[in-house]
Amino acid sequence: MIELNEEYCKGCNLCIVYCPRDALEPAEELNEKGIHPPVEVEDRCNGCRLCELICPDFAITVVEKDEEEE
Ligand code: SF4
Ligand code: SF4
Repeated sequence: MIELNEEYCKGCNLCIVYCPRDALEPAEELNEKGIHPPVEVEDRCNGCRLCELICPDFAITVVEKDEEEE
């Protein structure tokens, strides 16, 4: 699953466009910065980390689900 740092994200949508699993989509609501940050589509991410690599602002971290629950 992905963790997003909304302070860093500028809403360029590169992560959404390049995700090979269509696991990201723009949020319906604008956030405080006036952008639609990416949100994860349930059960689609395979953890490939492409979004983490491609984000020009280092706003995404891909974490294992188990790490999150600990
Ligand atoms: S690539 Fe990075 S900055 Fe662009 S929308 Fe995705 S998380 Fe935000
Ligand atoms: S880790 Fe891969 S599959 Fe998951 S959201 Fe990022 S680009 Fe998509």
